[in-house]
Amino acid sequence: MANPQYPEPIQIGAKATQSVPCQQCQQEIPAGEYYSYRGQQGQDIFLCAQCRGKVESALEQETRNPHLLGAILLGSLGGLAAGIIWYFIVVITHYEIGYLGIGAGYLMGWAVCLGSGHKRGFSLQILSAALTLTTLLAAKYFTFLHFLRQYLLEQKVEGYAGQFFFISPFDPNFLRNLVSPIGLLIWAISLYVAFSIPKPRSL
Ligand SMILES: [Zn+2]
Repeated sequence: MANPQYPEPIQIGAKATQSVPCQQCQQEIPAGEYYSYRGQQGQDIFLCAQCRGKVESALEQETRNPHLLGAILLGSLGGLAAGIIWYFIVVITHYEIGYLGIGAGYLMGWAVCLGSGHKRGFSLQILSAALTLTTLLAAKYFTFLHFLRQYLLEQKVEGYAGQFFFISPFDPNFLRNLVSPIGLLIWAISLYVAFSIPKPRSL
């Protein structure tokens, strides 16, 4: 019996001479006939030829015929929810917590995958990123309007009693407020997250 405190010395290529169980079907695969992969935690995963084929076609199937309308609907709903939450957090706390944008990216990636019928693929990646960007821009726009209205009230601008109004999205003051280096970084991360989640998986 090996002392558990001292792991056995690693033999290079040792696995090539012994059979290993298949991760999927648990059957022993003779030496040299298995496919090995690195798992998410860095562990070795072994598959027999048959299971490898099945897993590969299942992953490929995942990118076929996404339910785009479902993805758009659930993604938009997710965007609306994320945008409203963002708006109220900023309006109430007066802090713009950038991480919320990253959370919105996660939510959108997840909503798009789910809405498409658990599919993945480039079109869903683009959709997820586009919806996230729209959500971030809309949330920015409406929080800017809120603080502008508040400012006008505080300044006691004549004839203004707090009624709702819109400004052009190309208003220079709004655009100036929109762009900041740290803000852009967080937006980039948010979009990256949203873009990555529906990425096709492969072995
Ligand atoms: Zn197998």
